[in-house]
Amino acid sequence: MNRTHRIAQVLRKQKVDALFVTPSADLMYLIGYGGHPSERPTILAMVPGRSPVLVLPQLEAPRLQGRADVEIRSYADGEDPYESVRTVVADPSTRVNFAISDQAWAGVLLNLQELFPFASFSSASSLMRELRMVKDLDEMELLHEAGKRADQVFENVAQLRFTGLSESELSEELNGLLSDVGLARADWGPIVASGPNSASPHHITGDRQIEHGDAVVLDFGGVFEGYQADITRTLHVGPPDSDFKEVYETVLKAQQAAFDASRPGNTAANVDRAARDVIDGEGFGQYFIHRTGHGLGLDSHEEPYLVVGNGLTLEPGMTFSVEPGVYIPGRFGVRVEDTVAVYKDGPRRFNHATRELQVVH
Ligand code: ZN
Ligand code: ZN
Ligand code: ZN
Repeated sequence: MNRTHRIAQVLRKQKVDALFVTPSADLMYLIGYGGHPSERPTILAMVPGRSPVLVLPQLEAPRLQGRADVEIRSYADGEDPYESVRTVVADPSTRVNFAISDQAWAGVLLNLQELFPFASFSSASSLMRELRMVKDLDEMELLHEAGKRADQVFENVAQLRFTGLSESELSEELNGLLSDVGLARADWGPIVASGPNSASPHHITGDRQIEHGDAVVLDFGGVFEGYQADITRTLHVGPPDSDFKEVYETVLKAQQAAFDASRPGNTAANVDRAARDVIDGEGFGQYFIHRTGHGLGLDSHEEPYLVVGNGLTLEPGMTFSVEPGVYIPGRFGVRVEDTVAVYKDGPRRFNHATRELQVVH
């Protein structure tokens, strides 16, 4: 069954009368076309019992030529796109429960609210998550391939001489290597955080020069046929001292514990707990200042989130990052991140780059 049929079933079950999907990974997931947000709206309108209608600017309609599964209604500049949307919904007086993409511009929602004054709008993402959280085999393969390509980049970057490079220069090197292996630019990163900067998990890569004695956190990824890679390794420039080694070993153990916990039946919170127990046990709990991971797929951050309080039960097909870290302010940080997939018989990694500490020069 194709994805638009599956979401139509969800709409019926949840008694949603119409769904509006604007440019986003949700749109890509449903029809293989992600569109792009613009002042010329693109809206996929789905009403159970009729085929999906994509309203989009005339100049972008050629991108969807020959599609039989989606009715294309293009509008010329100067025409009102919302008129097309109105006729899809047909009888707005009996249809009142609508859902709209979380990523929709407020302007689109305001126009729809004006068009359908009796309707109430809820989050389309919470309908879509049921489907998108559990990957099919094709999606798993693409994520695995994306992961392997990122591994290759790590192996190549670890050959470089780090001393004397600035964070930005190293980031440019990473971008070059990522494009060499066929990964398209992600909408984030790479994060290159050196020395004391490595203690900031989302450090903004800057001009600091990497020196002997630095820890360097490299967090990078890219997109392969729509699917994201996301890997972090922490290297050391020259031999590390015993404090660094202790933290590094702790983070590795935490990462392994969270990986081992990533099995069907456990909750997302259990996985977070597994990493946190190790880090707490070694006395570094106050320095682990973020959740253990996030789902990964068409979006670089999506459900499920491995976070305290998330009682969601893991199922085969779920894919997420496992990325505990310890960040000692003013000194150094360590994070190790792999993409992990849940299978019936347990977890598998989609990254295989070595997690042993790499000492570079
Ligand atoms: Zn990352
Ligand atoms: Zn991540
Ligand atoms: Zn593999």
